[in-house]
Amino acid sequence: MSEERPPNARPARLGKAKGVIVRPMIDWFTSTFGQRGLEELAAAIDPRWATELVLDGPALGIAPGGWYDERLASEIAARIIAIASTRMTEAEALHAIGTVTVDRSLGRISRAVVEWFASPDTAAISAQLSWRLFHSTGWISASVAGSAMHAVGIWGAHGEKWCAVVGACSVRVLELTGLEDVRIDRHTCSGGARSCEMTVRWSSR
Ligand SMILES: [Zn+2]
Repeated sequence: MSEERPPNARPARLGKAKGVIVRPMIDWFTSTFGQRGLEELAAAIDPRWATELVLDGPALGIAPGGWYDERLASEIAARIIAIASTRMTEAEALHAIGTVTVDRSLGRISRAVVEWFASPDTAAISAQLSWRLFHSTGWISASVAGSAMHAVGIWGAHGEKWCAVVGACSVRVLELTGLEDVRIDRHTCSGGARSCEMTVRWSSR
């Protein structure tokens, strides 16, 4: 007997991100654009998320130890990038966000370990482990060839700018291993419907 379901019977796969990787971009935004910027950001957030946030509180009420819908993190990332892009390039904003997010979430000890021991290869191998610390769903697989890292992953429904923040974090990790001129060469985001892919390149020495 057939058990075929109508195409829309299964809800979209949803996931959560840990607050410790959501909060740094808000703190960076506030330190760069001030309290008025934070108020502008709060006013721009889709009202559907109002009950999940403290819109007039510090960092919109995002707690480092909490877990938040990837779509909420995506909304915050999209609004931050949109406002920041009026004062700097999007690439500059993403680089700053990736830097503060990795440096805070790694902690001082782990960061030192990365700086002393990590290579692009070990960074690629540890990508899946790091992923599970900060995301409730999905996986990522990364490999290094020459002066490029190719990563493919699939995770809960999310927006393109939040996916770009994830990429910016990988840029920062690779910078900490001592590489120079690290940049995103190619990024395709499916929003969670299929896999997302990214190629990161750096200058060869
Ligand atoms: Zn994506």
